[in-house]
Amino acid sequence: MNYCWKYEKGNWSPTKDPAGEVGDEGFGEALQRNGYNTNPYLDLREHDWGASIGVYKKDNDTSPLYIIVTLPNDDCMTVLVDDMDDLMQWLKEYLPVIHFANTSVVQSQMLELLEKAFRAWHEHDSADICPRCDPMGYQAREERRLQKRRELTKKGDPGHA
Ligand SMILES: [Zn+2]
Repeated sequence: MNYCWKYEKGNWSPTKDPAGEVGDEGFGEALQRNGYNTNPYLDLREHDWGASIGVYKKDNDTSPLYIIVTLPNDDCMTVLVDDMDDLMQWLKEYLPVIHFANTSVVQSQMLELLEKAFRAWHEHDSADICPRCDPMGYQAREERRLQKRRELTKKGDPGHA
């Protein structure tokens, strides 16, 4: 038996997953077999990838609304709410989750792209200190190295201290 969570007036409790076991048939078929319309009642997504929230219901029925939260790694979490009041309260609390999850994906993609672009332009890693693109950082590092070398020389040769 698959478990999901029931959300009611701000409280959570484990409950039986209304889609039941999803086997080889796939999720849509499991939904349909359990009487849910496979077209989402609400389809909340920012992109055609990443985290999203789908809300499913049965046609002409007062059964609980079935919420499926999909994370960027394709993990899913399912939640049941009894009515629109609970759905709106749940969305108010948890809708930002998909935004944060997707923003994090976009940020890491942008960072990766910037690092690639930097390597193409400068022919070295962005964390490397280079005399051409970071002359002050390079000079400061050279001075630190020189200072360190002087200190080591003094320690190793007390006669010249
Ligand atoms: Zn450089």
